[in-house]
Amino acid sequence: MVHRWETPGSVWLEDEHTAQFELASSEGLGRVEREAQSRGRLPDIAHLLGASLPLSCDCSPIYPEGFAFCPTCGAPLDKLAGRTRTPPDWWGPWSDRLLPRHVPHGLSVTALALGDSLEDRPAAPAPGRPDRSMPAPPNAHCVFAAGTFGFSAQRLIALAHARNVLQYWDPLGAAWHVMAAEDNTADLTFSAPASSYAWLPEPDPLRGEVGLVPTDRGLRRLFIDPVSETWRTESVFDGRLASAPGAMRRHLACLVNGDQGVRLWSAHSDMSNEVVYECDAPAGHWERPLGYDGKLFWLHAQGQMVWQPDAPPQWIAWPAGWSPRLQFGGPTQSRDGRLWLIGHDGQAYSFLELGRADGQLEALSGARLGFASLLFRRGHAVVGEPWGQEHVEDPHDDDAMVLPLLRGFNNNRSQPSGLVLRFHQYTGMAEDALAGRILPRTTVEWIGKRNVILDDIARLARPLECVPFVYDNCLWLHHPDWNQVRGWHLDALP
Ligand SMILES: [Zn+2]
Repeated sequence: MVHRWETPGSVWLEDEHTAQFELASSEGLGRVEREAQSRGRLPDIAHLLGASLPLSCDCSPIYPEGFAFCPTCGAPLDKLAGRTRTPPDWWGPWSDRLLPRHVPHGLSVTALALGDSLEDRPAAPAPGRPDRSMPAPPNAHCVFAAGTFGFSAQRLIALAHARNVLQYWDPLGAAWHVMAAEDNTADLTFSAPASSYAWLPEPDPLRGEVGLVPTDRGLRRLFIDPVSETWRTESVFDGRLASAPGAMRRHLACLVNGDQGVRLWSAHSDMSNEVVYECDAPAGHWERPLGYDGKLFWLHAQGQMVWQPDAPPQWIAWPAGWSPRLQFGGPTQSRDGRLWLIGHDGQAYSFLELGRADGQLEALSGARLGFASLLFRRGHAVVGEPWGQEHVEDPHDDDAMVLPLLRGFNNNRSQPSGLVLRFHQYTGMAEDALAGRILPRTTVEWIGKRNVILDDIARLARPLECVPFVYDNCLWLHHPDWNQVRGWHLDALP
């Protein structure tokens, strides 16, 4: 005999003989298999659903949502419903909806107040070490998102989009789980020749809803079921995507490969008003789009695609002989608010004004790494115009090179702050440091009101593969070569 218990979100079964509860179904979840409820997974499932866990008795390993006392023995339970305070979402360093409009969207900039915590640490040159670590996901070339996905607790997922593998972190079991596709024909692979990845989060998710993801066959709405450890997709738009999608106010847009060349597909965010524009532009290798000044920009080794909603897109090839250095970070702003991209004309580096066919050029005496006004010439910050003199605080910094990873946007500060890598005793070409070369000594640093060394890394290669993310009130740094993700505590973020 089993008793059936119904809560507002779920149905539970209580075995009359053992008095143990088991989840039968819950809103937004697919079929709940009995074997999915292994004992090791139950604490995580209870937190996800806001159910209850035993504190002192051993009558049942889990109880329905809202239970405050064990119905068998009367012992108090750990009632999780309505208790968790959810930290802010994370959708990748390029995706922060809370940034003001005068900051370019789509670059590695966060509005989270990371500096307020990190700057409490001892200032450089005091050595620093991570406070926490977690195992790297088994498929280590991945993007991370932290959100509730409509559940009661925030969770971390890691998508290895080149391999069609979605990974789920169970923080209570301290283990990564590879989620299975509910339907074998669904595929999250996004390999659009070497284009960079970006998903569009769902700000007000249904249970299990993640957001819009680009795949090789089109845009899909992704849902996860962490109880069964599965995922499924719904089709939003079918087409051979050439780039990651972007959003500008109420509009979505994406580059798609057509029979005649590249097209720009756009729609309102409710998927009404679909429009397709034919373009004369290359087929692959697109950077993820950035949004600025009411327009979306997709950058490419050969030029830029600029699109303003409700108007045809404009493909602008770079000036003859000039090639961009997209790997240096991305566009930056001048004081008057224009966007600039660094490149090289065969003789020297220069900044090119974006968004115009006859963009202004500003000559440079050397490479500058960074984006969105977090910019460095070798070891020195550039704080005025992007092409202006660097700010030399310590001449020894000439022997280092700084690569910005994440800017922390703070309206109350005149100088940009952020997370950087400093390559010590490196006087070679910037291009070589970012490619295959092994860098003997690198420090992870927070540059802000005070500079703080967070960690010291020996023999780093391919620094551009470093992925910062924020989850569980920690700043984390992942690199596919590392077995452990390094984490630094943050004070509770608002
Ligand atoms: Zn009990």
